[in-house]
Parts: sequence; structure tokens; C-alpha cells
Amino acid sequence: MTYAVKECFLTLQGEGVQAGSRAVFLRFAGCNLWSGREQDRATAQCSFCDTDFVGTDGAGGGKFASAGELAAHVEATWSAGAEQRLVVITGGEPMLQLDEDLIERLHERGFRVAVETNGTLPAKPGLDWICVSPKAGTNVVQREGNELKLVWPQEDIDPAQLEGWAFDHFLVQPMDCERREEAVEAAIGLAMERPKWRLSLQTHKLLGLP
Ligand code: SF4
Repeated sequence: MTYAVKECFLTLQGEGVQAGSRAVFLRFAGCNLWSGREQDRATAQCSFCDTDFVGTDGAGGGKFASAGELAAHVEATWSAGAEQRLVVITGGEPMLQLDEDLIERLHERGFRVAVETNGTLPAKPGLDWICVSPKAGTNVVQREGNELKLVWPQEDIDPAQLEGWAFDHFLVQPMDCERREEAVEAAIGLAMERPKWRLSLQTHKLLGLP
């Protein structure tokens, strides 16, 4: 299988429970909830995306002909020793391309494999960390994992209904939008009202990291 990768870079994980961890970010091209074109945003199932996932032209991006080739690229991007290797596979929607072969090849190179997914496709077996970020109006089938990251506020999502899903951590994260101050206030409000939820901030944006 050929993998289409938008970008692949070394950084610190900025969000969620693993924030602050050195990680290779592997961003697959493409999403099943938006084309990535601005002219389609208003009618997309997900309309608040803050990520460019179109094409393969980003830093470290490209087309990779096999899982082994892509895993070797991730390892070269890590560019350090064998300890604490972490790759965060994101997108776009990573479950459109991620397969067990790639997970195995990354494990062979000593990586823990984390994903950040919208949850509308089932997660592949063998993952070490599953972060689901649900989008209003979509059918989330992946209802278990390590962290549920709710970007907030979103109309038509009731946090109380999500609390029965099988996640270890429930995180609420202010939406990165024009009305950011209101979003921060709403996210703080949710964490204060419902203690199951913890506030998550996009620290990489505060710090100027990719
Ligand atoms: S599901 Fe994620 S990657 Fe896809 S459009 Fe929404 S925020 Fe962007």
C-alpha cells in the first residue's frame, strides 16, 4: 500500500495527557469529514478544523511505497536514541490509511504508537494510545481508548452522554476560533461543572512549536 503523508516532524506533544513528550508527528493526508478546501468548509461535517492536511507537500511529507519505508522515515525523524520513542499519528483522519502492517513496523523500531482520530472509523488493533476527538453530528464508533478530547464548545454534543464511554481520561479543550476567549470560558465552565473533565490547552501554540 502507498501512504500519503502531509508532513512528518519532530516536536513536543502539545495537547492532552501526554503533553510535553518528545514525539514524531506523522500527519496523513485526507479526512473523511472535510475535503480540506475552504470553499467546502461551510457544508462539511466538521467545520472548525485548524489543520492543513491536503497533499503531501509539508515538511517530511511525501508518498511512501511500503510500511517499512514509512517506519524508517519516522525513525530517521526521531534522530535520537532508542529510549522513549513515541510517534503520534494524526491527520486528517489517520484511520483512512493506518494499518496493522505500519503499526508492526513501528513497534519493531521501538516506537509507542499513538493516534489522534475523530472516532468515526474503528481503531486498528495494536495501538498503544488512542485519543478520540468527537465531532458534533457524526457517528462515533470508537468509544473506548485512552483519552477523549472534546473540542469545546460544539452545538449538539452533550458532554454528559459521552461520560459513559470507556476512556481513561476526559479532556475539554477550547476551540481555536475567532471567538477564542468565549471558547476558553466555556471550556473552563465545563471542567468546573463536571469534574470528570480536565482542561487541555494547545501548549504548542502558546510556545510557538509546530
Ligand atoms: S475531523 Fe479532524 S482533521 Fe478532519 S476536518 Fe475535523 S478537525 Fe480536521
